[in-house]
Amino acid sequence: MKMEPILPFAERTCPRLSVVVPCFNEEAVLLMLEARLAAACREQVGEDYEIVLVNDGSTDRTWPLICVLAERNPRVLGVDLSRNHGHQLAVTAGLQVCRGDLIMMIDADLQDPPELLGAMIAKIDAGADVVYGQRVARHGESRFKRGTASLFYKLLNRLSEQDIPVDTGDFRLMTRRVVDQLNAMPERYRFIRGMVSWIGFEQVALPYERAPRAAGETHYPLRRMVRLALDAITSFSTVPLRMASHLGMLTGLAGFAMLSWAIWRWFEEGTIIGWTSTIAVMLIMGSIQLIILGVFGDYLGRLYIESKGRPLFIVREVRSQSRAAQRGAI
Ligand code: UDP
Ligand code: MG
Repeated sequence: MKMEPILPFAERTCPRLSVVVPCFNEEAVLLMLEARLAAACREQVGEDYEIVLVNDGSTDRTWPLICVLAERNPRVLGVDLSRNHGHQLAVTAGLQVCRGDLIMMIDADLQDPPELLGAMIAKIDAGADVVYGQRVARHGESRFKRGTASLFYKLLNRLSEQDIPVDTGDFRLMTRRVVDQLNAMPERYRFIRGMVSWIGFEQVALPYERAPRAAGETHYPLRRMVRLALDAITSFSTVPLRMASHLGMLTGLAGFAMLSWAIWRWFEEGTIIGWTSTIAVMLIMGSIQLIILGVFGDYLGRLYIESKGRPLFIVREVRSQSRAAQRGAI
């Protein structure tokens, strides 16, 4: 069977600006989002924009709503993924579909103000390739979330050779050459903000205050945050793999010290230290070995999954007023 390229949009023209929005169960904010985004875009680039709304396998009325929006506004393009692929892959899908010279990524929940678009474009005009929003304040986020986020960025920057700016999300404006590079990166464990900073070119921060969610609930409970953190660390660092030798040396030294102490006591007092200490050492050694094996296993597992080379996402349907786009994609 001949393989069709995923989204042949040759017929579509390339707008000046594309906005990519991943949407997972966002029915409560979609209308507001489209209104505010469209207004912000219109103010900056007139009608020369497109909004790509990616439905990431929502279980509520998000997709029908996106279809309505696409019908109403010719600048809206809806992309329906076959199932929930996760935030980073939904964004990836949007980035592959969009055609703009400038590309903005923004969450659907309006925590990041679309009105910053003007300031971002100004920085691009001044020579930047990436303008990332940097949160100076995060309203409506728990202390726990802020604390863990800051700890995570510290750890990540410690472990990885790549400097990843702290307190940034995926809210950013990028030039076409950055997005083309991003699209050419095939890995499936994607930590997009890290990948963008790896790409290089001129990257500048735009400080802003992060608002609370406009409506709905966060889809990043602790479990998902941990998963994203693991993706980030294993994609950008091999330090954990090397942890084995360091830990091994450390426990080796400790074992040697204990052994010397036991021999010394044997000579001095004629007593052999009982089995408690033996068991303790065995437990410590055993657990360290298991931890290290786990770290190896994690990297190995990722290698295995990457090696399959499966597509990153699967598109069920694309909706827009342009018929050519529709036919091409299905
Ligand atoms: N999202 C997605 N797929 C998912 C989870 C989230 O596309 O599996 C989208 C979601 O609709 C939102 C963005 O990713 O636009 C960020 O999610 P959320 O606001 O829940 O995360 P938080 O801001 O709390 O970290
Ligand atoms: Mg959010």
